[in-house]
Amino acid sequence: MFDYLVVGAGFAGSTIAERLAAQAGKTVLICDKRPHIGGNAYDHYDDAGVLVHKYGPHIFHTNSRDVFEYLSRFTAWRPYQHRVRAWVDGQLLPIPINLDTVNGLYGTKFTSFELEGFFASVAEPVAQVKTSEDVIVSKVGRELYEKFFRNYTRKQWGLDPSELDASVTSRVPVRTNRDDRYFTDTYQVMPLHGYTRMFERMLAHPNIKILLNTDYHEIEGVIPYREVIFTGPVDEFFDYRFGRLPYRSLEFRFETLNVPVAQPAPVINYPNDNPYTRVTEFKYLSGQEHPKTTLVYEYARAEGDPYYPVPQPQNAALYRRYQELAEATPGVYFLGRLGTYKYYNMDQVVAQALTLYSKMAGVSRRESVTVHP
Ligand SMILES: Cc1cc2nc3c(=O)[nH]c(=O)nc-3n(C[C@H](O)[C@H](O)[C@H](O)COP(=O)(O)OP(=O)(O)OC[C@H]3O[C@@H](n4cnc5c(N)ncnc54)[C@H](O)[C@@H]3O)c2cc1C
Repeated sequence: MFDYLVVGAGFAGSTIAERLAAQAGKTVLICDKRPHIGGNAYDHYDDAGVLVHKYGPHIFHTNSRDVFEYLSRFTAWRPYQHRVRAWVDGQLLPIPINLDTVNGLYGTKFTSFELEGFFASVAEPVAQVKTSEDVIVSKVGRELYEKFFRNYTRKQWGLDPSELDASVTSRVPVRTNRDDRYFTDTYQVMPLHGYTRMFERMLAHPNIKILLNTDYHEIEGVIPYREVIFTGPVDEFFDYRFGRLPYRSLEFRFETLNVPVAQPAPVINYPNDNPYTRVTEFKYLSGQEHPKTTLVYEYARAEGDPYYPVPQPQNAALYRRYQELAEATPGVYFLGRLGTYKYYNMDQVVAQALTLYSKMAGVSRRESVTVHP
């Protein structure tokens, strides 16, 4: 009899499994329906020998010292500051929008101070910022919104920004200086030997058994365990009783080229009519030296693996019904991006798992990241 069955071997499942085994001394069976651990952060060497992320580029960044220190037990890091360019009007311009973006686009020579004045002159007053469109037009006006955000968001979500929650575009700042980093978090690093190696170390504890290519439903009621931690889609767990929670999916097209470097930035966004949303060149992220390079093109899709919970008020209301049901279901804990239907980054999922663990084990959050026994 296992103490816990953990469903899903991504960041959520691997963190809670590691803590339960290593700190609380519990026995854990972790299953995943995919043929590998790591969830969406899984990386591997492709046929050409280039390290790629199978489910799209994953860049680690966090302000949480706890999360950084916790993961540092399982990996060394390489410093990496992420930069993105957008292909707009025949130019590659920095995104998030900054001083160089505007000067490059309009051929102006604004100073930071003048750019503030420019934004103030083009920004549209919005009484209450509710949608993703409101967020941007109230900061930088309609023209920049249309050039950099509107089509990108429409492609990514299949919805106009005016139909989407403010949370989607408020993740992208607007700057008046020349800082062209995508993130400004305290810790911006990539696992030195890749994510999969890190997950292998997290799950290497003798109390943890791993079962891949195995859907939860195949072992439910067959293998004995006391409690379940479910990191798959919460609506799936309850057989879609209240209907399906909508997710946005992606299709990835990988391309290997016979050159060491193919594009001038790690990621290029295409906020225009191209069928793909963005193209990533992995070697920038990994720092790998190799005579060839691999790119991934991302195409947003309505059908496919569930990647992004769709942030709209009606979906939040539907999730609340599942959440109530989840809370009333004894012996099952829900965790992670799919288990709690929330657009979390990797570090947020680790933090969520550490918090759940601290509650389950009756220890403080700080104690939850210190190792004994
Ligand atoms: C394209 C893309 C890019 C991203 N980029 C970043 C980034 O740059 N930085 C960042 O911090 N975050 C990024 N994220 C978010 C990141 O992927 C998530 O925060 C993280 O993967 C969530 O971990 P998780 O364990 O909750 O879910 P997942 O990684 O999705 O793991 C859940 C696992 O559960 C398994 N599962 C589901 N149902 C079942 C079942 N019934 N039975 C068995 N197994 C099941 C799945 O196969 C999966 O492996 C990105 C996400 C995507 C899609």
